[in-house]
Amino acid sequence: MMNLYYKSTRNSDLKVTSSEAILTGLAPDGGLFVPEMIPKLDVTLDELKGMSYQETAYCVMKQFLTDFTEEELKECIEKAYDSKFDTEEIVTLVKVDNTYYLELFHGATIAFKDMALSILPHLLTTSARKNKVANEIIILTATSGDTGKAALAGFADVAGTKIIVFYPKDGVSRVQELQMTTQKGNNVDVVAIHGNFDNAQSGVKAMFEDRELVKELAGKGYQFSSANSINIGRLVPQVVYYVYAYAKLLEHGEIEANEAIDIVVPTGNFGNILAAYYAKLMGIPIGKLICASNENKVLFDFFKTGVYDKNREFVLTTSPSMDILISSNLERLIYLIAGEDSDKTRHLMEELKSGGRYEISEDMKARLKDFSSGYASEEETEGEINNVYRKTGYVLDTHTAVASHVCREICSDDRKCVIASTASPYKFVKSVMTSIDKSYENKDEFLLFETLCDVSKTQMPQAIKDILEADIIHRKECDTDKMKETVKNILGL
Ligand SMILES: *Cc1c(COP(=O)(O)O)cnc(C)c1O
Repeated sequence: MMNLYYKSTRNSDLKVTSSEAILTGLAPDGGLFVPEMIPKLDVTLDELKGMSYQETAYCVMKQFLTDFTEEELKECIEKAYDSKFDTEEIVTLVKVDNTYYLELFHGATIAFKDMALSILPHLLTTSARKNKVANEIIILTATSGDTGKAALAGFADVAGTKIIVFYPKDGVSRVQELQMTTQKGNNVDVVAIHGNFDNAQSGVKAMFEDRELVKELAGKGYQFSSANSINIGRLVPQVVYYVYAYAKLLEHGEIEANEAIDIVVPTGNFGNILAAYYAKLMGIPIGKLICASNENKVLFDFFKTGVYDKNREFVLTTSPSMDILISSNLERLIYLIAGEDSDKTRHLMEELKSGGRYEISEDMKARLKDFSSGYASEEETEGEINNVYRKTGYVLDTHTAVASHVCREICSDDRKCVIASTASPYKFVKSVMTSIDKSYENKDEFLLFETLCDVSKTQMPQAIKDILEADIIHRKECDTDKMKETVKNILGL
């Protein structure tokens, strides 16, 4: 098979293998690695029908990660998708009314980030071995809540790695914060910053681009890598569940062969929905990709007008993992609709960096026809949780509710629709329970878990049992302009 190489969205002369792209995370020019072309699946939909999640993962991932041997890739997959998940199927497709919720929250931290972050450490350490890297790998991560814990859980005590996670002090739920601050492991650090997620993300990006710092690290036998969704090693594993979901719909006779389905994704950094788009480009019959935003609707406005403008008020919502004004992975879509023109992409990203805004051309806009968008206000999100529960007994988390509301608003009745269900309602229990009944407003969050068990007729996830008992280990805090100093302190530079 031919090797697939990766280029930077900002410099097409740069060409690296998949394992090099995984190791580096972000390209040296600040661009994101993208495959030279999106590979097609080399199995038929009929063949995919009977496959397990792990088998599907191999079929999809081998097309992207061509410098991994069959043995290496299968080993990564087996280590990732095992009993850490509370269902053998790994992801489940639940039919509620006439909509399908693709539950991506059955992993260790009960949010969809587990889908990619349980395999990334294995892809990364395999990549290091393949490229004869002797340095210790420092994973630097900014999180809006869910990535942090999933990355900590994935990397804890993985030999040859250290992980440092930054999260916005007042921008995550109590459950999310406790999940992170109680993380065990000899190689993990957690820092709360006095700022929002975008500050955290910008600070981390600046460190990756800081040549002096990178040099200093190398002197100590360290090198940076990223567990953020800009890493191709996160994006590729996310393509898998869209392929799997389609195959399951087919297997269960919910759709005819080659029938197109729509997909709605509650979107923040644009990684999850981009993975769905890659699945479409690989050959899965997907009609529309519907981007659902909360009140931070920078992406909704972009799809409507062609103008990306982050100059607006940042809103803290009940779906904090989508409280994002700079959606990093959008750069990969920009690159595609710019006709894979890295100069054009670089210019737009420079405009974004300097003025916080850019506008795409009419040609580029025309290439967005596979996408559609919508958003849900806080009130609509709450209403959606309430309505779905009253009507069906199914309990949505706040992020999934945003997508579910958008689906109701814009999906057509004559196309089957799959909603990416990105978190367990237990993770956002307070907002979820208050949506169901206002009288829970003044109840302590931690007393609501049992109530949610009763209301949703589901069992308390292990991840919740864990935080109810664990001790707080991490108490570091810093200002947004002190992130670099904090990292240097932790690493003893
Ligand atoms: C991260 C996250 C999202 C947003 O996904 P992106 O890939 O960043 O667009 C949505 N919902 C939940 C629960 C998340 O953790």
